Amino acid sequence: MYGEGELNARLMLVALSPGQNEDREGKMFIGPSGKILDELLQSAGIERNSLYMTNLIKCVLPKNRKPKQDEIEACSPVLDEEINMLLPDIIVPLGYYATRYILTKYAADPPLAHTDFQAVYGKLIYSNDQKTFPLPHPASLIYNPSYKQETMKKYHKLEILFRDCKWATMCPMKWYFEKGRLQRKWIELYCKGDWESCIRYQKEASGTYHQDWMLPDGSLDESLI
Ligand code: SF4
Repeated sequence: MYGEGELNARLMLVALSPGQNEDREGKMFIGPSGKILDELLQSAGIERNSLYMTNLIKCVLPKNRKPKQDEIEACSPVLDEEINMLLPDIIVPLGYYATRYILTKYAADPPLAHTDFQAVYGKLIYSNDQKTFPLPHPASLIYNPSYKQETMKKYHKLEILFRDCKWATMCPMKWYFEKGRLQRKWIELYCKGDWESCIRYQKEASGTYHQDWMLPDGSLDESLI
């Protein structure tokens, strides 16, 4: 089963596999985890149809069992093809298997242990010219409803990632980048990414002085003077 949604979407969600209902209807997220996803997206102010959604494994996994390595190898070329065709600005893998596959594909050093993946959820990563924003799979809330507030906070970031920083066209960082004096990662991770976390942005918003050569993470780069 291929994905569905907006073909020019900035964000591509990658889940694990279709469930029985999804596979029968040929639609993404129509079961209980779909309801949770809708709630999480709604709380982030994101319309489902403004995204493209797809799966790593293209068929139902019997009794929702874990995917085998040969199944991942058999299905992932289809996902790769979707990514190559749609060229999403940010790939949002949901849960362990999708995150491990996408981070490995872009050589972004995925954690080795299953439990260590909690550390990458909700963190924007830029590697090999691709931005990735891993999130917990909505189905995880079916088994662990106590994580709801924490998960909602991570999904809230989608609203930030959905558009560039409002100062992206006039910020000195853009000028430094165009002159070849600033690495692209700063633009991708902040100006076209998580601008809410940019220290320059926060200082502008609160009317606090900052040097022109302050980087988005708040460090000073005097080579920019
Ligand atoms: S450096 Fe910060 S304030 Fe400037 S455009 Fe980028 S995110 Fe916005």
